[in-house]
Parts: sequence; structure tokens; C-alpha cells
Amino acid sequence: MKKLLDLIYPRTCVHCDHSITDETSDLPYCRGCWETIRPLTGPQCSICATPFPSPSALSHSPDHHCAECREDIPAFSRAFTPYPYEGILADAIQRFKYQKQTSLAAPLAGLIMEQLTTVQFDLVAAVPLHPTRLRTREFNQSLLLAQRIARFTQVPLLIDALNRSRDTLPQVGLSRKERAQNVRRAFHLSDPTPIKGKRILLVDDVYTTGATLREGSKILLKGGAKEVIVAAVTRMI
Ligand SMILES: [Zn+2]
Ligand SMILES: [Zn+2]
Repeated sequence: MKKLLDLIYPRTCVHCDHSITDETSDLPYCRGCWETIRPLTGPQCSICATPFPSPSALSHSPDHHCAECREDIPAFSRAFTPYPYEGILADAIQRFKYQKQTSLAAPLAGLIMEQLTTVQFDLVAAVPLHPTRLRTREFNQSLLLAQRIARFTQVPLLIDALNRSRDTLPQVGLSRKERAQNVRRAFHLSDPTPIKGKRILLVDDVYTTGATLREGSKILLKGGAKEVIVAAVTRMI
């Protein structure tokens, strides 16, 4: 049916108007546009993946940590936030999150997985949305991504254990201290049993300041997880 519809009404890329020739693709973009999404390649903090402005930061110590991690070491051991929030990817995230184009979940999860090939984990978890926000958005975008990652990697998905206790304000414009304050006690674990001794991949869509993922990781570690690795499709820089 989809093939037939494509023949009658050829789909065109929402960005450049070229026709989409790959009829198996769910993407609203042509291949050329989608392939403009490239991972960050420069030097970055070995914990939180903050890009460093100059490679000299790493020339003497390859494990160099950013100022924020040195001041306040995160509960997660590593962050994978490979793609900058710009261009086609920023557009895709907007469509996914706010225009409910949930068919983007699989290709967006695919982008994360390309960068996680050597990472070991035993459970996949999503950053939970507060129920009020879930009601207005109708789905948790992080959970859709986590589901795809769990399915592709055949690693179990943690469901309903990590919950949002209260809604938080947007983090933009807050100082580091205020951000930590804002997310404090934002999460709770309803059942720590499934996470005991597990290495957890905690998934979010966008890494903005890291405060939410720091707090979520802290709760998981406190609950008995062995390690928390965080992953987000994209990073605000
Ligand atoms: Zn295009
Ligand atoms: Zn760092």
C-alpha cells in the first residue's frame, strides 16, 4: 500500500524538496539530507562528553575532565551525546517531540546505536516524563527511543521503576547550582529490585545541561545499580 501511494504521490523531502526514492524509508527527509547528520569529532570530556574548544586540553592527559565534572563528578560513568543539535537533526527532534512524528523514533535511536557499538549494558531505561507533561504530549519521547534501543540490542527495558516525582522548570538560563536544585528529588524509584547490580543505559532525547541525567543516574546508583551510562541523540552546544 505504501509503495503504491509512493507511486501515485511521490514523497518529497521536507527540507530540500527532492523526491524520496527509498520507499522503505520512514524518514521525511531524502538520504542526502539525513546524511548531513554527523557526530562531533573533536576532543571531549571523558565523562560527560562536553566538547573542548581546543585539542590541547587532551594532549597531556587523554582522560582530562571538564571543569564541571572536576567540581562535581557525575553519578554516571560516561555520556554518549554524539550529535550536535543543529540542522536536520534539530528539525527531526522538533518533529519527533512536538509534532508527534513518532516514526522518527527508530532512525533517531539508530543514530545513537551507531555510537554505542562497544558499550556494554544489561538494562535500558528512559528518563521519565512527569504525568502532567505526559498527558499533554501523549508519549514519552525518551521511552520511545529506549524501546527501540532495547529491541535492537536485545537488552531488557526497565519499565515503571524510575518515576518522575515532580515536574521541573526548563533548565535554560539557570546556573549549575540552580539546575541541580531544580532537579533535586525530581525522580524516585518505585522498585529497585530489577536494577540491583546492573549496568544501565539511561536514555534521553536531548542532553541540555546534563542536570536531569545526573540526577536520574544518582537515583539509579543509590537504588543499587552497578553503573549508569547515559545516552542522548543530540547535545545542545
Ligand atoms: Zn533533502
Ligand atoms: Zn565533563
